[in-house]
Amino acid sequence: MNTKNKFLLIVTLMLAALATATIINVGLNFRDFAINSALDKASLTANIVKDGLTAHMVNEMMDKRKYFLDTITQNGEVKKLWIVRSQKVINQYGAGYSYENARDNIDKKVLTSGKMIKEITESADSVKLRITIPYKAESTSKISCMDCHNVNNGDTLGAISMEFDINGVRNASTITILKIFGINVVFIFIALLVLNHYIKPYMDLFANLRDGIKKAHSGNFSYRFETRVTGEGKEVTEQINTLFHKMEETFGEIKQSLATFVTRSNLTCSDPLYEAKIIIKELSDIYKFKKTIELDNSKELVYDRLISVLQDKYKITNFSLHEIDKLTKLRHVIYVAEQISCTPIVNKNAELCRAYRTNTDIISTDFPNLCESCKDLGHDYICVPFDINDEVSLTLNIIIIELADFDIINSKVQSIKNYLEAAKPVIESKILTDKLRDTSLRDGMTGLYNRRFLEQFIDKLGKQALRDNTNYSVMMLDIDYFKMVNDTYGHDVGDIVIKGLSDVISKNIRDSDLAIRYGGEEFLILLHNSTLEGSLEVAKKIHKDFNIQKFNAGGELIQKTISIGVSQFPSDANSIWKCIKFADTALYYAKEHGRNQVIQFEADMFEGEDF
Ligand code: GH3
Ligand code: MG
Ligand code: MG
Repeated sequence: MNTKNKFLLIVTLMLAALATATIINVGLNFRDFAINSALDKASLTANIVKDGLTAHMVNEMMDKRKYFLDTITQNGEVKKLWIVRSQKVINQYGAGYSYENARDNIDKKVLTSGKMIKEITESADSVKLRITIPYKAESTSKISCMDCHNVNNGDTLGAISMEFDINGVRNASTITILKIFGINVVFIFIALLVLNHYIKPYMDLFANLRDGIKKAHSGNFSYRFETRVTGEGKEVTEQINTLFHKMEETFGEIKQSLATFVTRSNLTCSDPLYEAKIIIKELSDIYKFKKTIELDNSKELVYDRLISVLQDKYKITNFSLHEIDKLTKLRHVIYVAEQISCTPIVNKNAELCRAYRTNTDIISTDFPNLCESCKDLGHDYICVPFDINDEVSLTLNIIIIELADFDIINSKVQSIKNYLEAAKPVIESKILTDKLRDTSLRDGMTGLYNRRFLEQFIDKLGKQALRDNTNYSVMMLDIDYFKMVNDTYGHDVGDIVIKGLSDVISKNIRDSDLAIRYGGEEFLILLHNSTLEGSLEVAKKIHKDFNIQKFNAGGELIQKTISIGVSQFPSDANSIWKCIKFADTALYYAKEHGRNQVIQFEADMFEGEDF
């Protein structure tokens, strides 16, 4: 039953209860009225009879008393009337007529108790009131019963019994009740019509609100409310509509914006709020994961964390993770759970892995024997390839033992890829760090990176910086008039001076910066993520620190100066090689304009062809 009908039913029941109470009240009042008026009549009749009998007695006409009594019943209101004698009167005057004997127990009780008794007898077609009133011996100023009766004052002389028919009153009350009932029914009907007319629009609005809010619970704020209610009700409806419109827009935008951060494939509900909550949780988890692996010392630790995420967060236990060297096509095992993996031959030739070869997710249920190398597994599987860079790729091979788990695991794949995506730059940088440790890329005399390193990695560094939106300050340093040192003090002293400069450089740069011995006594420094002001400060510090250094040249202390050219990548040029050239140009400018100074590159210094 809807609210409106419930409301109308309650109103009907209340009105019906009110009507019933009225009817019962009226009915009871009628009954009391009928009884009381019959009692009044009875008392009046009893007095008339008593006075009449006394008069008969005084006038010695007691033999005519039957006629007198009959005349009283003739008017019809008193249906029956009889009198009975008490034992004392019988003792004195005899039993009287036979109809003057006690007819029933009521008569007898009244004679013995001296108290009035009334009794109502109701049947389907009649209502009778029987009253028996005692006559008591009394003495007044005019007459005394004791004059004629041998009784004491207050003794019961006899009783008068009467029967009244109060059916008429009952009929009248029934008609009145029916009228009241009729009026009430009509009133209730009209009241319901009026109520229905006024509350229907509100009820419709409530039903409308209920439907809309139910949809809003599931994240759908597209519902718009309509109402015929005017005034405040209409105002509220319009405000709710505006609110829903804003909610729809805002949550939609939030969902869309968040979806750009992480890709989700297992969208099970359309609730943007719930969806946003899930995405934010995932973003937060991925962010924490990324922050943690960034601080890890090695690529292996990053892989370990990825494995933990798969096991602890995604509850995937049967999987293997491999790293593929794209140049040699060799596949290295990172992790294999309980020796369940595809054929080991793949380790020697990664091309045998369908996921790696096609660079697409391989889902065994898509096609029978999809991957040749997995056919001996005896289970279903999902293989996910993931490129780290031009040289390294990962493959994740998830084995599904229970087919019932397939859909659940498959729905997690996209989310797992988000983790791989987050790990990608970190793994890439760890790979780079590993390579940077390679001694063949270091200069033997200074321990700094050599030209080979520069040629091998500078492009990658440049691309990564552009991708990560980071920058490098490029510095080219050259010792002024260095030839003189060699010529005057010999090559060994020259080497000491070169070593001295490399030490000054190393002391003044951070771990994330790179220092390269570019030529004989020429150095290249790449300061990572430094402002122009910051990098000029570093350059000046190196310049000053080197200038004050004193070198022992065969007992003589000598001091040298340096010139430094500085450019900014990518603000001066979006190629790091170009920026090296610009830094060299600034250095040349410094040499041309008196040496022993730090010069920042400016576009008009470069007269060469664009490269
Ligand atoms: P400028 O101020 O223009 O730079 O004058 P400079 O004399 O320093 O000229 P330049 O930079 O061309 O001199 C480079 C010299 O460095 C030439 C070479 O003999 C010397 N050199 C190169 N490598 C080494 C090395 O490993 N040890 C020593 N001792 N000298 C080297
Ligand atoms: Mg020089
Ligand atoms: Mg030089």
